[in-house]
Amino acid sequence: MQKQVVIIGAGPVGLVSACLLVDEGIPVTIIESCSDLPRDLRASTFHPPTMDMLERFDVVQPMIDQGLICPTWQFRDRADGVVSEFDLALLKGETNHPYRLQCEQWRLGEMLLARLQTNSLANILFGLSASTVRQSDTGVEVDAVNASGETETFSGAFCVGADGIRSVARRAIGAEFDGMTIPELYLTLSTTYDFTEAMPDLSNIAYLSDPDEWFVLIRTAKLWRALFPVSAALSDQQVTSPELAEKLLQGAAKRSAPYEVIHRTAYRVHERVATHYVKGRIAIAGDAAHVNNPLGGMGLNGGVHDAYNLASTLVEIYRGAPLELLGRYERQRRKVALDVVQQTTLRNRAILNTRSPEARAAYYDDLRRTVADPITHKEYLMRTSMISSLRDVAKII
Ligand SMILES: Cc1cc2nc3c(=O)[nH]c(=O)nc-3n(C[C@H](O)[C@H](O)[C@H](O)COP(=O)(O)OP(=O)(O)OC[C@H]3O[C@@H](n4cnc5c(N)ncnc54)[C@H](O)[C@@H]3O)c2cc1C
Repeated sequence: MQKQVVIIGAGPVGLVSACLLVDEGIPVTIIESCSDLPRDLRASTFHPPTMDMLERFDVVQPMIDQGLICPTWQFRDRADGVVSEFDLALLKGETNHPYRLQCEQWRLGEMLLARLQTNSLANILFGLSASTVRQSDTGVEVDAVNASGETETFSGAFCVGADGIRSVARRAIGAEFDGMTIPELYLTLSTTYDFTEAMPDLSNIAYLSDPDEWFVLIRTAKLWRALFPVSAALSDQQVTSPELAEKLLQGAAKRSAPYEVIHRTAYRVHERVATHYVKGRIAIAGDAAHVNNPLGGMGLNGGVHDAYNLASTLVEIYRGAPLELLGRYERQRRKVALDVVQQTTLRNRAILNTRSPEARAAYYDDLRRTVADPITHKEYLMRTSMISSLRDVAKII
């Protein structure tokens, strides 16, 4: 049997890479430090081209069945209401899925894992933490520590570092993680309250701009999720306290009954892109390679696009292409992270939190002009749904 690919991390990026490789007959071992896949509140937005990519794994229809199709999304002013509403139906003909799908990322993870568990080419090992990655001219070795503290070594032809923000694979290739940490924490609350009671013209996805406290509302199949910026000076206990959740939600939509809050997750947000993605036979992807704020839902989607590009490149190399082809993966996907994902998410944050009334008015005018013209409206959607970036970088060799 040919040498395997060792994948570190069973997040969405590691699992998508694994599915693509085993489908092409390439064996994989996935090393995951957690004892199971987490079911916490993380990304939930799937953009059209991501669903186009995932179709081959037969997971899209079940995701649609468990999720919520969102045909439109809005920028709103917190006080004055809708500024611009984007209509994803304009993407018909460009994608099989001209809408955003809201579906919790763990649902995709569980489906991909179940699919891999039925394939003898996939060896999935939970409760093992990769500690060191080495390589020679012909292969890689990954040391991983189990719960008893014993080290096991896995060898393969390549290593995919899909091991998230604190990636050991990134360290192994000597990449810096340049960028910045956003000063505030992001608190995500999910609630049974239907925000359309307070805002009848609300889309299923809305970004509410405000100089003092912006927030985001996203509807999933059963709940609404609200995301708020909160001070990093608060203690962990204060950030996830029921009192803070109630205060923020009452501020978003005042009601006499208290809010029923189902989940609370607070996390630190960074804007960082690794200085390089590849060295020899080791490549990083997803959060291991780039992290950004969630305003626009580009982190998970960009990670899946990385996984697709990287795994397809590895398939070409297994079939005889030179090892140097991995450089194309880095050139294409690092450009998207820097020029599209980071730029778009930072601009979204600026539209939401800008304090200057003149700058806010200029952003609003620009958004209104963009939706008023069908051509600029569609161009904006092609960019923000990440279709353009895939097409543009395909020209980079
Ligand atoms: C708490 C939280 C909330 C988030 N909320 C949002 C959101 O609301 N909206 C949004 O768009 N994005 C959100 N994100 C970001 C989004 O979840 C990520 O972009 C996405 O998960 C990236 O997928 P990934 O597979 O690259 O990394 P991850 O999902 O982080 O997966 C990496 C995997 O590698 C494993 N791992 C790490 N180190 C090792 C090791 N040494 N050995 C073995 N295994 C290892 C980890 O346990 C993990 O399972 C959130 C992220 C977090 C952490």
